[in-house]
Amino acid sequence: MKEGLFGFDPANRQAVEQQQFDQLEATELYCANCRQAVPVRKFLLLILPEGDKYEYRCQYCGTPVGGKMDKTGQYYGVLKR
Ligand SMILES: [Zn+2]
Repeated sequence: MKEGLFGFDPANRQAVEQQQFDQLEATELYCANCRQAVPVRKFLLLILPEGDKYEYRCQYCGTPVGGKMDKTGQYYGVLKR
């Protein structure tokens, strides 16, 4: 196994590191496509019992650049059957 050498992308690694900030309300994240920090839009992806899963996408190209799990569960309560 030689994973980690072939296909290693420093820009991609930076994007992963950015996701560790996702407890905060993100306004700018690194977009691997634009190769710069970009303003992001927040999309509600999934509503789960443990929280709402959001995805951040680049405002310029729409590439997903990060995610967030919001544990308020407010939408789950509304939609719960
Ligand atoms: Zn972009």
